[in-house]
Amino acid sequence: MECPNCNSVLITIERNGVEVEYCTECKGFWLNVDEWELIKQALNIQNKTDDIMLSNDCVKADTNERPKNCPVCFERMEKINVSGVVLDRCLRRHGVWFDKDELSKYINSGNDTNTDNTVYFLGEFFKN
Ligand SMILES: [Zn+2]
Ligand SMILES: [Zn+2]
Repeated sequence: MECPNCNSVLITIERNGVEVEYCTECKGFWLNVDEWELIKQALNIQNKTDDIMLSNDCVKADTNERPKNCPVCFERMEKINVSGVVLDRCLRRHGVWFDKDELSKYINSGNDTNTDNTVYFLGEFFKN
């Protein structure tokens, strides 16, 4: 699978039983709906009820960011705005692309109670 951001080959990283497709070049990662559910459990953020993977009611982001293509079906993804964070999502619901730091921004939006968990979880990913 190729990175939708920089076209490097994504590598699969396992962390706390969750596998994510990670880009070692631009530090972004790709999550599908199953992985997202596991991440929510691992980070104890089930209270984040925004259905960022499957909802049809997500706010379209007003942004000039370069469009990205889904690494699964190669179709252009939509930009959605969840809690002020702009994410790229496949229209066919293959998954969501998080640029570097976007997951932690999203998780920490609205409250700051899960910061330590996020850092703990993401630390492994972002370690050089
Ligand atoms: Zn990349
Ligand atoms: Zn797709």
